[in-house]
Amino acid sequence: MRKQIAAANWKMNLTYQQGEQLLDDILRAEITLSDDQQAIFAVPFPYLLMAKNELTGSKNYFASAQNCYNKKAGAFTGEVSAEMIQSLGINYCVIGHSERREYFNESNQVLAEKVNLCLDNKITPIFCCGEPLQVREAGTQNSFVEVQLRESLFHLSAEQLQQIVIAYEPIWAIGTGKTATTEQAQEMHAYLRTILADQYGKDIADTISILYGGSVKANNANELFGSPDVDGGLVGGASLIAADFIQIIKSLK
Ligand code: PEP
Repeated sequence: MRKQIAAANWKMNLTYQQGEQLLDDILRAEITLSDDQQAIFAVPFPYLLMAKNELTGSKNYFASAQNCYNKKAGAFTGEVSAEMIQSLGINYCVIGHSERREYFNESNQVLAEKVNLCLDNKITPIFCCGEPLQVREAGTQNSFVEVQLRESLFHLSAEQLQQIVIAYEPIWAIGTGKTATTEQAQEMHAYLRTILADQYGKDIADTISILYGGSVKANNANELFGSPDVDGGLVGGASLIAADFIQIIKSLK
């Protein structure tokens, strides 16, 4: 069975102390994860070691970065490389969140470079894709998301692709309280799996976890994650509230 994942994206929220408290509160629930389940916490860079230390000892709980730079090393003041992240013992990194694409102009080509650097450093990219509202309204979301995958992922070998987690996040559903319906999520996830199968074969496509993101809450996670092609969620707002994220972790298949 492919991995079922509850991934928290804290974005630029919480102080160090608040972050530590949140992890403590979540871990106190002592939710046991099976070998096929993971809880991943994408925290701000300065909190990575704290999060890693907090989570060490809890099986299948991991810390993740939220971004890395698309260059290996050098004179890029303020940036953080995949190698630096790996040197902390962190093995996950969110790549291509829609906020990065929008506010930092990250193109599919730049994201392909980031994916490569993550894989070179044994970091699993949690690769985000998803369409804006006007694309959804025009009904062209499938081809829009397909281009994102083709241009950022389809240069990878089958072996490399299997290191990737995909997060489908319709932009109109992120932070808006407007969740995609279970049918809309399942339809897109099934489509993504079909194009992965066309490119890499069904056996490989069936191993790739595809998370849904966009206003996942404690009260809708169960239904969303119950869809056959939805393998968990990437969660923003609700991941900042311990009781809510605990419920979301418990909703994993
Ligand atoms: C996100 O940050 O990726 C996200 C989906 O946010 P929210 O859950 O708040 O919509």
